[in-house]
Amino acid sequence: MKDVPDAVLKPDREKSLRRRHPWIFSGALRHIEDRVAPGATVRVVSAAGEFLAWAAVSPASQIRLRVWSFDAEAVIDAAFFRQRIEAAIALRRQIAFMSEHGACRMVYGESDGLPGLIVDRYGDYYVCQFLSTGADYWRDTIVEALAEACNPRAIYDRSDAAARRKEGLAAQRSWLTGTPPDAAVEVDEHGVRMLVEIGGGQKTGTYLDQSVNRQRVAEYARGASVLDAYSYAGGFSLAALRHGASDATLIDSSAEAQALARRQAELNGVAERCRFVNGNVPAELRRLRDEQRLFDLIVLDPPKFVHSHGQIAAGSRGYKDINLVAMKLLAPGGILATFSCSGHVSPELFQKIVAGAALDAGRDLKLLERLSQSPDHPVAVNFPEAAYLKGLVLRVAG
Ligand code: SAH
Repeated sequence: MKDVPDAVLKPDREKSLRRRHPWIFSGALRHIEDRVAPGATVRVVSAAGEFLAWAAVSPASQIRLRVWSFDAEAVIDAAFFRQRIEAAIALRRQIAFMSEHGACRMVYGESDGLPGLIVDRYGDYYVCQFLSTGADYWRDTIVEALAEACNPRAIYDRSDAAARRKEGLAAQRSWLTGTPPDAAVEVDEHGVRMLVEIGGGQKTGTYLDQSVNRQRVAEYARGASVLDAYSYAGGFSLAALRHGASDATLIDSSAEAQALARRQAELNGVAERCRFVNGNVPAELRRLRDEQRLFDLIVLDPPKFVHSHGQIAAGSRGYKDINLVAMKLLAPGGILATFSCSGHVSPELFQKIVAGAALDAGRDLKLLERLSQSPDHPVAVNFPEAAYLKGLVLRVAG
C-alpha cells in the first residue's frame, strides 16, 4: 500500500511478529509517525527497515499495534474485511454452526484475522463488538461487509465490554442497520429453544462458548437430579432435561438471568421440573450440604475469577472452594462438570486445583473428559491467548 506511515520496532523486537503473533506492545516500538490517526493502518518495519506487517494503531493501549496482515502485498480496505468475514463464515459452515435458526460466534477476533472484532449470530440477527481502536476505525466498512455477506435482518452494536476501556474507547450500544426485533429472538441449540434479548442480557445475549459442552454434559443426564450452579439462562439444565434428567436446581445471583431461565424453561415445557434459586453460589452450596442434599450431575460454570496475573492465587482459592463443596454434594457415581473461563488459569493449574479439592473433600474422582470452548471460538495457533475456557468432567466413586 502506498503512502502508509511507518511504525518502526526497536532492534531485535520482531521475534513474536515473525512467529505471527498479532500484538505489538508499546515497549517494542521505537517510533510511529505522528500523522497516524487512532485506528489507522501503519506499515510495521524492523529496526533494519524490513517489512513485517500491516497493523492498526491503538494509541491509548499497551497493545499499541494489532496486525491485520503479514502479507506485504495485502491492502487493508473494504475488500480485505469482506474477505476475512467470508473466511470466518466458511469456517462456521464447515463445522455446521450456521444452521438457519442457530446461534454462533461468527467472528472471533484475532483467531479470524480480525483483531478486536467479535460478531455473534442469532438467526438473522447479528451482534458486533468493536473492542479495539482498529476495529472501531473500520466500523462502517465492517458493518457494510457483514450486511453484504449475511443479509441480516438487523445488526446491533454492543461495544460495552471492559476491553474497550483499555483502548480509551467509550462504551456504546445501538442498532447499526435493519429493523430491530419487537421481541426476544428465538434460536435453536440442538433442539433446545433459546431466547435472546438482543441488546440485553450478559455477553452478547448468551454464553455461546458453552454450546457444545451443554450437549456433551447432557449425555450424562439420563434420570439425573441436576444442580446447575451459575446457571445464567439455564442452558445446561435445559439440555440435561431434554436428555432425560429428572429435575434441575438452577442457582444464579442475577434476578434478570433467572427470569430468562424461567421463560426458557416454560418455552421448552420443563418448568415444572426446575427449581430456581436466586442466590450466591458458595453460600447456596453450603446450605445444600447442610441439608444433606445429593445430586447425580453438578455443573459449576462460574464467572471469570482471575482477571490478571496477580489474581491467580486468590482466584485459585475461589475455584477450590466451590469445587470442594460441590464434591460433597455428589451422589455415589455422580458426575461433576466443572469449568473455568479465566484465561490466566491454565488447564494444568485448573486440574491441580480440582485434584486438591477432591483430596480435601475426601472423595475419589476420576477424570472422564477434558472440555474447552466450542469450535466457533477457534484458537489460531499463533495466538494461544484466544484459549480461555476449560472444563473437566469427573465421576466420583460409588
Ligand atoms: N452456565 C451458563 C453461563 C454462566 S455465566 C450458561 O451455560 O449459559 C456465569 C453466571 O454466574 C452469570 O449468570 C452470573 O449472573 C452468575 N453469577 C456470578 N456470580 C455469582 C455468584 N456469586 N452466585 C451466583 N451466581 C453468580
